[in-house]
Amino acid sequence: MRGWLKALCAALCLSGAAGSGVQAQGHFSGLARADARGSSLHVDEGVAFFNLALSQPVPWRIRYLADPPRLIADFREVDFRALDFATLLQGPGLSGFGPLRGGPVADGWSRLVLALDRPRLAQLAELKTGQGDGTRALLRLELAEADEDAFRLEAARRDPPGWALPVPADLATPRAPRGSGPLVIMLDPGHGGLDPGAENGGQSEAALMLTFARELKEALLRDGFSNVRLTRERDVFVPLETRIALAHAAGADVFISLHADAVTEGVAKGATIYTMAAEASDAASAALAERHDRDALMSGVDLKGQDDLIAGVLMDMARVETAPRAEKLSEDLLRAMAEAGIALHRIPRRSAAFSVLKAPDIPSVLIELGYLSSAGDLKRLNDPLWRAGMAQAIVSGLHSWSVRDAAEGALLRQ
Ligand SMILES: [Zn+2]
Repeated sequence: MRGWLKALCAALCLSGAAGSGVQAQGHFSGLARADARGSSLHVDEGVAFFNLALSQPVPWRIRYLADPPRLIADFREVDFRALDFATLLQGPGLSGFGPLRGGPVADGWSRLVLALDRPRLAQLAELKTGQGDGTRALLRLELAEADEDAFRLEAARRDPPGWALPVPADLATPRAPRGSGPLVIMLDPGHGGLDPGAENGGQSEAALMLTFARELKEALLRDGFSNVRLTRERDVFVPLETRIALAHAAGADVFISLHADAVTEGVAKGATIYTMAAEASDAASAALAERHDRDALMSGVDLKGQDDLIAGVLMDMARVETAPRAEKLSEDLLRAMAEAGIALHRIPRRSAAFSVLKAPDIPSVLIELGYLSSAGDLKRLNDPLWRAGMAQAIVSGLHSWSVRDAAEGALLRQ
């Protein structure tokens, strides 16, 4: 248990400093780097040994997630690029382990996620400094098999203050009444950081969506009727709930999540717009929703148990007004895309239980610009002219929606 106490101490002892540090957005000048040499993972006599060599000591902590059992290691801040996760997983006795992923999760934070073969808890967890071999710090973890209940107890432990992922400080920016002031639009480039999203031909959905979101932002600003914010400005992992929290913090009137997923079965091409549904409208939508949420789960953010009963009732009440507004937004966007001659999916208007569309009070849509699994779509997504046309169609769809929505809002207030 000594190691476990040490791990907890690492969390608690650092939480004071981290609490204020979370808000400070400045970067460390010398970013710690993980070193492939000196890093290893293997199982010996039932115990998993994980060594992570770092160029300098950093604040760190470990915790666990259940269903499936995972080890989460958070650092401030580590560049994992020198590590080859696939190679690490080839160590002795590691069948049943994996995937292992790592990357930035928020400004100044990095995370490793290791899917465990079974419930395991650290019997030793320490960061040794001043190694003589050129490695400046070595994180040593010994993960012993644990029984299910003990593991679940650890996994249920709450984050110490300061260690939860950064939450926008001001969650209470009031929104202007519908139709007054510029429309505040939150664009949400899907995926990012340790979650690349769909991949094909060396390209990732995360990177393509960031490019498109930036271009769409420019197009919207040129049009001049809106203020535009992005949920992420770089290749960083942002949990789904944080994306919604950012929209609230910005006082967003509209939330638009941008994706271009891949399908493994059948042929899918063209643009699709999703709105929120309690249940997915068909099997394909259900699979997509599940995949999006699983990405978030895999990255160490558990979506379960977020809404208690009362919050649920309040959110349902808000959705009664918001849901039809989102439907109209989806309609106006699709009409504008069709008018611009943009290829739409065979069934372009769908609904699914995407967590990212869960804001009860902000009309939210998820646009699948196309499918990375389609060669034609992939080519279009890489074509600046096509992207400009798509961006312009979204601008014009949003524009007509905002006029219609403001008029309807004014009617409601009378
Ligand atoms: Zn996606």
